[in-house]
Amino acid sequence: EAETLPSMPYFGMDIGGTLTKLVYFEPLDVSEVEGPEEKETLRTIRKYLTGNVAYGKTGIRDVHLEMRNQKLGGCRGTLHFIRFPTSEMQAFIDLARAKNFSSLASAICATGGGAFKFEKDFQEQVNLQLHKYDELDCLIRGIHFIDRHNYNVECYYWAKPPDSNSQTVDGQPSSNLNHSHCSQSGKNHYVNGSSQPDHSGTSQLDQSNFNGSQQYILEKDHLGDDCDSSHSGLDWVKKPFDFRNPYPYLVVNVGSGVSILAVYSPTNYKRVSGTSLGGGTFLGLCCLLTGCETFEEAVDLASRGDNHKVDRLVQDIYGGDYRRFNLKGDLVASSFGHMMSKQRREEATREDLAKATLVTITNNIGSIARMCAATEKIERVVFVGNFLRVNTISMKLLAYAMDYWSYGALKALFLEHEGYFGAMGCLMEYLK
Ligand code: ADP
Repeated sequence: EAETLPSMPYFGMDIGGTLTKLVYFEPLDVSEVEGPEEKETLRTIRKYLTGNVAYGKTGIRDVHLEMRNQKLGGCRGTLHFIRFPTSEMQAFIDLARAKNFSSLASAICATGGGAFKFEKDFQEQVNLQLHKYDELDCLIRGIHFIDRHNYNVECYYWAKPPDSNSQTVDGQPSSNLNHSHCSQSGKNHYVNGSSQPDHSGTSQLDQSNFNGSQQYILEKDHLGDDCDSSHSGLDWVKKPFDFRNPYPYLVVNVGSGVSILAVYSPTNYKRVSGTSLGGGTFLGLCCLLTGCETFEEAVDLASRGDNHKVDRLVQDIYGGDYRRFNLKGDLVASSFGHMMSKQRREEATREDLAKATLVTITNNIGSIARMCAATEKIERVVFVGNFLRVNTISMKLLAYAMDYWSYGALKALFLEHEGYFGAMGCLMEYLK
């Protein structure tokens, strides 16, 4: 049975602009492998990868994402998910050499821009070829594989709590921290049409941003509803979503930059848009503005900040609501708009700046995603990519904004394996 598998070991690698994602399939039985020397090397690699959760200074295995009892190419085993900063690629190449990787396989399959960028290094330094696959093909293939094999737990959404006064998050009573988020940052609405995001290659979207009255009527009615606009989804709760018949859907991959795909069937998709204002922008700006060093630190700062100290609201400009178009006073009219004032700059904390950066980037992505969904007439929008890692603030904000501005027509969906679909799909392409 195991003969159907190509050379071992089985890796899929997605070398992104920021992070390299590695999916490793650990077969349960290695006895089929020829030769004692190969067996030894394979054991060494397996022991190293599965016996650790951290590799070197920066490699991490996401143990909570591990998928057991999977069947790949006729072989049973476990899927492991590992990541490290792409800036550490040299250490990975050194490791592959130290573990004698090339005695087992002559090639690794790789996707992402780095598959091109590092091809020569792999060839010259470890005698390994890179089998290159297109990253968006891999992404779609990976989503379909993981969702099918993890179908009742992979896909989820954020829902309004049954009782709107409820303060539970993830079924847990919310902490004081969460509670204070609810009250302090519950006004993060994006003034639709009041901002003209500068996205790259999205000219058709600019049109749909201002495509006339229809949308305004909807929004006006909606805002005129008894909808509580002091809400940003922070008390929304996580719920499983049945993704078995998802077509058509939009994929918004938020990595260093953002790609948006419309998916019509397992094999039919197109890239509809993208923006360079993505996870890399959030992290880059946050490091500049707050002096933080890591993504985790940036998100943690944001979780304790108040973007209203930084952003200009409709009421800061109108003294209240913008009545004619029913835009509430507490909507963000101008992201970072307060920072033109010296006094405001002095008052804004690192936490406030981090929060404003997170809200700005997240709402811009949500806004572009909504316009793509409208143009493509698609209702389900799946957000993936490592920007959403440990970042429930952005997920809830996206869930809330998609629902709110579309009058409940659009649904934001999320997947547990966030940033790993490209790497997973890459392994699938190889086994195809
Ligand atoms: P890419 O393929 O472009 O590297 P990813 O999907 O891996 O994209 O997402 C990268 C983004 O994820 C970063 O820009 C950052 O916003 C976020 N991120 C999450 N975790 C980390 C981390 N440990 N280190 C750096 N960035 C991280």
